[in-house]
Amino acid sequence: MLIRRAITAHIYSYTRNQLHRIPHTRYASQFLLPRNCSSHTKTDSSSIPPPDHRQLAVQQELFTTSIYSPGSPILLPNGAKIFNRLVEFLRQQYARYGFDEVITPTIYKKALWKKSGHLENYSDDMFTVTSTSPSRSDATEGGEEDEYGLKPMNCPGHCLIFASQRHSYRDLPIRYADFSPLHRNEISGALSGLTRVRRFHQDDGHIFCRPSQIEEEIRKTLDFVRVVYSTFKLGPYRLTLSTRPTEHYIGTTEEWETAEGALKRALDASGQEWTINVGDGAFYGPKIDIILRDSDGKEHQTATIQLDFQLPKRFELEYIAPAPEYERRGETTVDPDALNETGRVTPVLIHRAVLGSVERLMALLIEHYNGKWPFWLNPRQVMIVTVNDSQPVLDHAKAVQDVLMGRQGSPEKPVSQATNFVVDIDDRQVPVGVKAHQAKSKGYSVILTAGPRQLSSGTITCDLSRLESDGEVLNQERIEMLPSELLEKLKAKADAYL
Ligand SMILES: [Zn+2]
Repeated sequence: MLIRRAITAHIYSYTRNQLHRIPHTRYASQFLLPRNCSSHTKTDSSSIPPPDHRQLAVQQELFTTSIYSPGSPILLPNGAKIFNRLVEFLRQQYARYGFDEVITPTIYKKALWKKSGHLENYSDDMFTVTSTSPSRSDATEGGEEDEYGLKPMNCPGHCLIFASQRHSYRDLPIRYADFSPLHRNEISGALSGLTRVRRFHQDDGHIFCRPSQIEEEIRKTLDFVRVVYSTFKLGPYRLTLSTRPTEHYIGTTEEWETAEGALKRALDASGQEWTINVGDGAFYGPKIDIILRDSDGKEHQTATIQLDFQLPKRFELEYIAPAPEYERRGETTVDPDALNETGRVTPVLIHRAVLGSVERLMALLIEHYNGKWPFWLNPRQVMIVTVNDSQPVLDHAKAVQDVLMGRQGSPEKPVSQATNFVVDIDDRQVPVGVKAHQAKSKGYSVILTAGPRQLSSGTITCDLSRLESDGEVLNQERIEMLPSELLEKLKAKADAYL
């Protein structure tokens, strides 16, 4: 039986210089993945206001909002570029960590949310979707059959996928990843920027594993977290382990002790500092939270790893294994009699998100980089300024742009080598020095100058002084280079996430 337990959380609105604490009563629920804001502990008393992602987003044309969809950020082309690069970065890592991406529905019938426990525990945070046309009803007499819920989490959908096939112990672990948009009905007074939203995306993942695989899966996930946050140069972060609540919990104390022991061993193996929050686990299993400290000393909960004994039971998930009694306890045996027996075992579910909410992590990154984006994430990567607007110079600028964007080739064939670099041309009749200065103030990483001098050589004058250096000497103010040479250099930067 699910336990309905009122908790009081405090939402800190993302207002600068003054924290507004809003008491917000909601119900403890299962699968509490990171909300879109966490407690902000401001320790910096400096008089210079820290960067605010909402102001920076206006300057950098990243996102906007509309009264027609409160709490649903509208990502502009620059914001969408950052978002897509973050998602693509995660996809690259999935190749190492063994996640298979799935694509799942946005609306599910009320019956699913009943089965998952969301209706009982999470309905205040959910949106209902109904058809306005009775003639298109799924049911003969209408009613509940036609009520859908907009998904706030992906877990029930992933359980449906697991349940759709038969599994042997040899198939496990199975790891599904999902970047679906999620909707949660936040109170309107708290909505702000990319941090308190109603619509967002998670780099969501669910691992279905054998009890004996918990420790290894947690260890790999912590490793994943370390790699990701060090790439962004975010941190430091601390890890907290939340253990079994004293009263309301499901499962046996033995199951909890085994799971907590596995989590502790994985935390120790991570080499990271970790603390314990006794009794602070969700009622369905223990969890590890990653608390990130930003340059202003504020703390943000981002990644989360949660063990769940409950949901696999609700969805009657199972796999076939020998010696099922041992298997359930995460133990192995050589006893031939035990091994002769095969049986059904419930897998353990691990909910995990490394970035957490992609939008909220974007907010952190916008403030963290404060206009000085690393090249690979920068929505303003290369600006070509023309010395004059004569046709040969304009053609040269365009040819350089084609090379850097990878769009040469026959127009009869589809594009196959697009670099996805952002390469803009400023061909206004404005002095070249002014144009270069403006491009720098807008945050472009690379400024190129195209003029009549380079027409015979086909080269371009490159200012690479704003590219982050990885030991290479790139600080010469101006270098003459062929566009193809520059392209190789830029690809190397992007591939190294610099
Ligand atoms: Zn989940």
